Amino acid sequence: MIPIAEPSLGEEELRNVVEAVKTNWISSKGKFIPEFEKSFANYCDVKYGIATSNGTTALHLALAALGIRSGNEVLVPSLTFISTANVVGFCGATPIFVDSHPDYWCTDPSKLEENITEKTKAIMPVHLYGHPCDMDPIFEIAKEHNLFVIEDAAEAHGAEYKGKKIGGFGDVSCFSFYGNKIITTGEGGMCVTDNEELAEKMKVLRDHGEDPKKRYWHKWVGFNYRMTNLQAAVGVAQVKRLEEFIQKKRKIVEWYNDALRPLSEKGLIRLHPEMPWAKSTYWMYSILVENDFPISRDELIKKLEENGIETRPFFPPIQAQQPYISHTEKTPIAVELSLKGINLPSSVNLTKQDIEFITKKIKE
Ligand SMILES: *Cc1c(COP(=O)(O)O)cnc(C)c1O
Repeated sequence: MIPIAEPSLGEEELRNVVEAVKTNWISSKGKFIPEFEKSFANYCDVKYGIATSNGTTALHLALAALGIRSGNEVLVPSLTFISTANVVGFCGATPIFVDSHPDYWCTDPSKLEENITEKTKAIMPVHLYGHPCDMDPIFEIAKEHNLFVIEDAAEAHGAEYKGKKIGGFGDVSCFSFYGNKIITTGEGGMCVTDNEELAEKMKVLRDHGEDPKKRYWHKWVGFNYRMTNLQAAVGVAQVKRLEEFIQKKRKIVEWYNDALRPLSEKGLIRLHPEMPWAKSTYWMYSILVENDFPISRDELIKKLEENGIETRPFFPPIQAQQPYISHTEKTPIAVELSLKGINLPSSVNLTKQDIEFITKKIKE
């Protein structure tokens, strides 16, 4: 079976984990945690990194630190992983679903304003499948309406918008290091920010809201969202390999695009886009199966599975799912993309032969 995504773990990851175990520093204190926070924040060209137990807790921590609460509304894309919306609910606030841009699948900035009310407090752009959002117009709108911007960068470590790394755009930006993300710590996440005060508040909230100067005195209702030294031990080694991973991913995309271009020229599929202002990291290389394709998207998924190729359909629009069914925002592009999209195997371990095999099967 060719898996959709698998991690690439090397000697240094192993050495670091062994060191953490041998020295007994396996919980949420230990040298790898600040080292990982520093090196990853540095990679993003941002001052502060606050490591968390996973990407979802990073997002919740960011919203909590920004004071998002009951009565607030937060704009999130309809086409994203469910946790972007769930964390808004964790704060007692309401997610409002915004449609996607048809050309690059992320939040369409021209659909934001119609969803803004006096309750709106923040925008959460999601850099879907590794492609950055169009940040300039998003910021223009955020500024005009006095809204926070929290990047959900869980799928886009190292992606660039107009030559600048994502992660440095929001008030806070949040990453995931889940096993299938571009770099991994098993489970893990991080908030990055240039705002010192926010960074301090996130550190306190991550650790039960305890006053750093007074043991067992708690300023806020905090959380335990800490990362362990074991996770950070892996992270420290993974950050060093991130650029190499991105280069390999972009190579894989070239192989896919070269092989699949004839199908896209016939209008049977659409290839994973990259806008002129974007450098995508193609977390998941994806295609859209158009209506003229001889079999349906779901049949293609099944056929590929029969041939030992794991794929995934795009996320369903969040309002289509049980907890959000009462939401009535109309997002026709997200609906269309979710019905047509497939993620193809995207691990950095893939060879040219693997891609030739996968694309040959798609053509068959
Ligand atoms: C993976 C992901 C998350 C959540 O990260 P976890 O580490 O799995 O909690 C959030 N948002 C998006 C867009 C993701 O892809």
